[in-house]
Amino acid sequence: MPDNKKNPYFCAMAGIYIHIPFCKSKCAYCNFFSVATDKQRADFLDALRKETVIRKSYINNEEVKTVYFGGGTPSLLKPDEIQSVLDVLHENFDISGDAEITLEANPDTVSKELLKDFNTVGINRLSVGIQSFHDDDLQYLSRKHDSKHALQVLDWANETGFQEVTMDLIYGIPTLTEEKWARNLDVFFSKGLNHLSAYALTIEPKTALGQRIGRGTAAPVDEDATVRHYEMLVERAENEGFEHYEISNFAKPGHHSRHNRSYWTGDRYLGLGPSAHSFDGVSRQWNVANVTEYCKLINEFPNSLKMSWFEKEILTSDDRYNEYVMTSLRTCWGCDTEAISRIFGEKYRIYFEKNIVPYLRDGRLVRKGSCYALTEQGMLFADGIAAELFV
Ligand code: SF4
Repeated sequence: MPDNKKNPYFCAMAGIYIHIPFCKSKCAYCNFFSVATDKQRADFLDALRKETVIRKSYINNEEVKTVYFGGGTPSLLKPDEIQSVLDVLHENFDISGDAEITLEANPDTVSKELLKDFNTVGINRLSVGIQSFHDDDLQYLSRKHDSKHALQVLDWANETGFQEVTMDLIYGIPTLTEEKWARNLDVFFSKGLNHLSAYALTIEPKTALGQRIGRGTAAPVDEDATVRHYEMLVERAENEGFEHYEISNFAKPGHHSRHNRSYWTGDRYLGLGPSAHSFDGVSRQWNVANVTEYCKLINEFPNSLKMSWFEKEILTSDDRYNEYVMTSLRTCWGCDTEAISRIFGEKYRIYFEKNIVPYLRDGRLVRKGSCYALTEQGMLFADGIAAELFV
């Protein structure tokens, strides 16, 4: 059981997310904003550096503890391009000396030399998009790498000095049998990594895979198999000494992703780049999900007088309470009724405690002091349970 004193809801920090929107090609299941061309790379980098300067006061001069290059495929950028972005960040923000600086990397885009150079320019955490160590699963997902290269990249990451390496796996793929999933977990745990993100394959109707399944030309997801994979994952991770600290995240003690915490803790975070989201404690903002528009609108500022590349929503107390319930229930620390009372008021705590009773009775929720957390079985229903607790 994770130490509740390390509950991230009691930490204060700020993070910066940078969305690199380019990919080599579009994976069949992908619902993230990305484009399968890097024709606008120079314009984009120019606009990104400008946005970094323009939004320097967004997190109120708080010390930045984490920087995360996500995408898209950030490892398509060259190390000197990453360095140029980091330089502008350092010039405009108070980046902590021990900041966690993560780069998402796809195996087909990196070499040992490149990894070494990414490390040299300041990336200290690598997140590798492996998804599966079986080529037929990778083909089903239309990933560009093969299992041999995936294994190689994990070895290179260890050999090139990264302090922290994490990887993504996907379960519930129709081609992924229980034996193959067990083998994926064997490979992960044999590599000595301290962190794993594992996601259930979800099919969005507008993706290429969603349409193939709709036409009957690709196998659909089997929900029962997905649940079985999840159970295998949870059991194996526990046996290996990993904490299941968020629905999709597992880590050895002391190796949680610090960046993800800023999304779960209500701390400020700034999102730079097309489609990136930001939160300043009272409002949410989301940048336009279009590279051309993003560059154009950034370049029109300050002549346009208004920062027009994002939309903004002021959050009500109800909105913030709902978000707190939804995000905290996804973590092993759960939802803290003392925090609800302190931040939102007694009426929210009373409402919460009244509505959790059925889930305590059926064993999907447990009490840990002033906190209520989902059990492993409850995690399977996290979104539905959270929705029932919303005001
Ligand atoms: S590499 Fe990642 S962001 Fe790019 S298309 Fe594939 S899943 Fe989407």
